[in-house]
Amino acid sequence: MNKTGLLLVVSGPSGAGKSTVLRHLIDHHSNIMFSVSATTRPPRPQEEHGVHYRFVSEEEFSELIMNDELLEYVNYAGNRYGTLKKPVFDSIKAGKVVVLDIEERGAFQIKSGISDCIMIYLAPSDMQEVEKRLRMRGTENEEHIAQRLSLAYAQREHIYSYDYYVCNDSIEEASRKLLCIIEAEQCKIARVPNIKEEANA
Ligand code: 5GP
Repeated sequence: MNKTGLLLVVSGPSGAGKSTVLRHLIDHHSNIMFSVSATTRPPRPQEEHGVHYRFVSEEEFSELIMNDELLEYVNYAGNRYGTLKKPVFDSIKAGKVVVLDIEERGAFQIKSGISDCIMIYLAPSDMQEVEKRLRMRGTENEEHIAQRLSLAYAQREHIYSYDYYVCNDSIEEASRKLLCIIEAEQCKIARVPNIKEEANA
């Protein structure tokens, strides 16, 4: 049976372990890939250009917008972030599961353009854990921590706009649940256009 390409939009509080869970998922499943966003934020120690983000200047980001190369983009906590269109569409066409780790305004922009994307809210069960993890990461100053926390609380208000909630108290458990969601979504009749031929093959 052909692989069914999917678009998974994962959103949730920043600094609470979203990317760790997604890395775990992607490292264990070769058909799932991470979409590398463009950002004007400076790289953190350990972050690599082209792996964690495509780190670009303000001018380069504006050019991406002008050339219509972004699927969505936002200004978040003083920096710009955007999803690159071509790698996402090429991979879905090739039957890959593409995962976007993006904040909620971008997530809703994607949903309004691509209605069959799968919207997942990934967050710890306890919001105090968000603050603890953000502080432990040690990459943001107090002002930025406060800004990210207030955005995280605001996002919780919109939880009913998502298709799934995955709790990331445990990396393995969260990654396992994401895989279950992917497998269930790939089995949906609506996603298998040539179901009759495939059933008879
Ligand atoms: P960070 O600076 O901690 O890497 O990311 C800050 C926030 O931006 C996170 O919530 C992350 O999910 C989100 N983000 C990363 N890339 C994109 C993107 O391309 N578009 C949008 N809308 N948000 C993004």
